[in-house]
Amino acid sequence: MSLEIVTVPCLSDNYAYVLHNANTGETAVVDVPDAAPLKQVLNDRGWTLTDILITHHHYDHIDGVEDLRGPGVRVIGAAADAHRLPPLDQTVEQGSDLIVCGESVQVFDTPGHTIGHVSFYFPDTGAAFTADTLMAMGCGRLFEGTPDMMWASLSALMALPPETTICSGHEYTAANARFAMTIEPENPDLISRVQQITQARADNRPTVPSKLADEIATNPFLRANVPTLKAALGMEHADDVAVFAEIRRRKDNF
Ligand code: ZN
Ligand code: FE
Repeated sequence: MSLEIVTVPCLSDNYAYVLHNANTGETAVVDVPDAAPLKQVLNDRGWTLTDILITHHHYDHIDGVEDLRGPGVRVIGAAADAHRLPPLDQTVEQGSDLIVCGESVQVFDTPGHTIGHVSFYFPDTGAAFTADTLMAMGCGRLFEGTPDMMWASLSALMALPPETTICSGHEYTAANARFAMTIEPENPDLISRVQQITQARADNRPTVPSKLADEIATNPFLRANVPTLKAALGMEHADDVAVFAEIRRRKDNF
């Protein structure tokens, strides 16, 4: 049985997620940009919070943790970042086995945006919470890590089943789509996804979560290993990391 996932807009362009297991009554949130909208979801549905999962230390992912946490709530985050996260009840690292909402979770160490950024994969539900590592049509800026690190992080996420739901941290998709079109203006999957995104934003609908298969087909940062993309950049003979670094450099200046 799959967990119910609620996408919760927070602050100006963040997303947090609420996960609920109707059989066990357990409820988790992934990231807490702001406690109020999450409390609202929990109240509206009559759900009692059991776990808070933190992806990384940036304020727009942890600011509401102290307000939201309460007795009996387990706060989970990266061991490597324990010194700069709210107090953790459980620390995790690459490969940690974890049970959340009655489901086993695989923890991926996904550095690049920050050192210590982790992603949480729920294989039974088929969802990965990738925050500011893998985003809809984009990836996070490299504030702390190197192109090598981020490419390795994205490559690990790309290896998940293609039908995986990618729950990312921000509504940046329209700008990401405009950028993607400068890299691969003739990619037909990209052209049709850009139309869908434009329509969704015109209707004020969120563009996340997204499907991993769609990211692999259209997200330029996941396509640094694709020969046609390399050719479009005049980098036919460059290695994947060098192509990834060039795409990231262009996006930073876009
Ligand atoms: Zn961040
Ligand atoms: Fe963020």
